[in-house]
Amino acid sequence: MLPLSPHPQRILSLPVLSMPSLLSKSFIFFNRKSPFPLAHHTMAKARLRGVVFDMDGTLTVPVIDFASMYKAVLGDEEYRRIKAENPSGIDILHHIEKWSPDKQRRAYEVILDFERQGLDRLQTMPGAVELCGFLDSKKIKRGLITRNVKEAVDLFHLRSGMMFSPALSREFRPYKPDPAPLLHICSTWDFQPNEVMMVGDSLKDDVTCGKRAGAFTCLLDEKGRYSSADFANLDVEPDFKVSSLSEVHSLLEANFDLMG
Ligand SMILES: [Mg+2]
Repeated sequence: MLPLSPHPQRILSLPVLSMPSLLSKSFIFFNRKSPFPLAHHTMAKARLRGVVFDMDGTLTVPVIDFASMYKAVLGDEEYRRIKAENPSGIDILHHIEKWSPDKQRRAYEVILDFERQGLDRLQTMPGAVELCGFLDSKKIKRGLITRNVKEAVDLFHLRSGMMFSPALSREFRPYKPDPAPLLHICSTWDFQPNEVMMVGDSLKDDVTCGKRAGAFTCLLDEKGRYSSADFANLDVEPDFKVSSLSEVHSLLEANFDLMG
């Protein structure tokens, strides 16, 4: 049989001879420094193994005029009433779920129409490709959760050349802000939710979903709209806030132990 190395004896004996002295030294060292050196070390930087992204307005440039869409679905008067009750944002899918099947079907047609127009103008968000390249280099998994339809996700994958897996669309129920889709991705990856970060441009959908699941959250606020008074009294707060995707890279490196 051929030896595995030209000096098999040396290779084998080295750890046996040096291990006890190394171990005792490090124990003394750690005990003097802190009673819980390892726990302290892991608390300083949390481990991050996966990032889950929202699609519209996060991985793609926002092109859907949501105000016009809501007006078309709800009618002017109803839109104004609901908007006044929900200054931080309207949950249109939630509103139409209470409607009669006929009215609901018509509403979905209007929404789909707006979404299709958005797809025609679909553009990848600046910084998205670079961020994904960085995540890949660290072997960090990336997933996607959207309230848009599967057709839109497929087109996004095709046009951007990036793949997110799992990618859950609104066919997966319940959708955001319910934590179910994020928990589903965590269990698919076999990761704990606190080893995952949810990144999105919506406080009420993405950050709430992430928080409820027990994940880290990062709000993408390109235009600083979340600095307005409308959001002053909300009890949801993201762990991190960025104004562009290109900031996420350094945020991850500074705050996390990146282990894929
Ligand atoms: Mg969004």
